[in-house]
Amino acid sequence: MLSTAGGSPVVSAPLIELGAPVLGEAEKRALAEVIDDGWLTMGERVRRFEQAFAALHWIDDAVAVNSATAALQVSLAAFDVGPGDEVLLPSMSFVATASVVVHAGATPVFVDIESPDRPHMSVEDARARITPRTRAIMVMHYGGYLMDMPRWRALADEFGLLLFEDAAHAVGLSGAVGTLSDAASFSFFTNKNMTTAEGGMIIISDEARRARARLLRSHGMTASTLARDRGRAVGYDVVECGHNFRMDELRAAIGIVQIERLPVWNDRRRTLTEEYRALVSSTTPDVVVPFERAHRTTAHIMPVLLPESADRAAVMARMRASRVQTSVHYAPIHRFEYYQRTSGPWSLPNTELFSRRQLTLPLHPRLTSSDVERVVETLRDALAQRQA
Ligand SMILES: *Cc1c(COP(=O)(O)O)cnc(C)c1O
Repeated sequence: MLSTAGGSPVVSAPLIELGAPVLGEAEKRALAEVIDDGWLTMGERVRRFEQAFAALHWIDDAVAVNSATAALQVSLAAFDVGPGDEVLLPSMSFVATASVVVHAGATPVFVDIESPDRPHMSVEDARARITPRTRAIMVMHYGGYLMDMPRWRALADEFGLLLFEDAAHAVGLSGAVGTLSDAASFSFFTNKNMTTAEGGMIIISDEARRARARLLRSHGMTASTLARDRGRAVGYDVVECGHNFRMDELRAAIGIVQIERLPVWNDRRRTLTEEYRALVSSTTPDVVVPFERAHRTTAHIMPVLLPESADRAAVMARMRASRVQTSVHYAPIHRFEYYQRTSGPWSLPNTELFSRRQLTLPLHPRLTSSDVERVVETLRDALAQRQA
């Protein structure tokens, strides 16, 4: 882009976005079809989206809802997690991981991460926080990096606990997510690996619990509006105190298009992540990239750890001035005002260290290799200015 300032041309580089959904003609056509058909809310497209989602993850069936937050809430309710129960979960997550536990009437118990270069909830620290009131464990696949599910299942079984997955970052880890837990929740929010603008999905392998989740998402009613509209059901009963967490046909129509392209996008994200890894280690060796290169992932985000001495806010400001967006994933949940006021105090040293040094670089399927080079150069320059 060329612009003029004070008579002399100033070249301003194009903005490199942190993330960006891939949407196009296929999504527009899918939306137009729904409008032409005229049935707007939960119906046959939602069902097709559920089946496509289940097939992608090599499981029998799935339940669509209108967000991952709703998915988590329904999962906890389907297993009667409630007052008096403690749920172990990571503080290094998005706040919804904890707020759903509070909404269930249960108590969140924050667990530290393994180490700053492995920001997964620690099995050892979780074990140390188990009490007679512990009812469930909620793991979160940070950045889409697969948790060690066999180890978590073993810990849950040893103490007779339920195991839930916040798999908001982990859509598409076929055969791995949703297979060893009691329930897994996925997100289709705009910044996730595939999107329906807002939306979520639940995998529950137990058929009876899955049927319960279906009831809970729609007022606990025994017949859907579609079934009644099509004359397949006359009346209905209410057998649970449910919610309106339904997905609509417009979102499902977008989801059906997006899910077909997801494997290619996830591959592209992984390739870009490898390029980042190689460039960061050769040009900015004092910056750490968490997790091993071979760790299975959806590459949802590109986290790095800045050197202890770096001023992160200044680095982010310099990168922004060079037209590169960055972010932080995450401010630890236990440090938010609400959680400080209502729980704790908590000792989570690795979480706090990681959170102070963490920086998220741009990553999305439309990023190019030269974008990655520009991001890493910008990062190197932003860090170098600190010493100057
Ligand atoms: C995005 C996200 C959620 C919430 O997803 P919504 O679909 O927006 O409700 C929950 N947990 C994690 C880890 C997330 O990243």
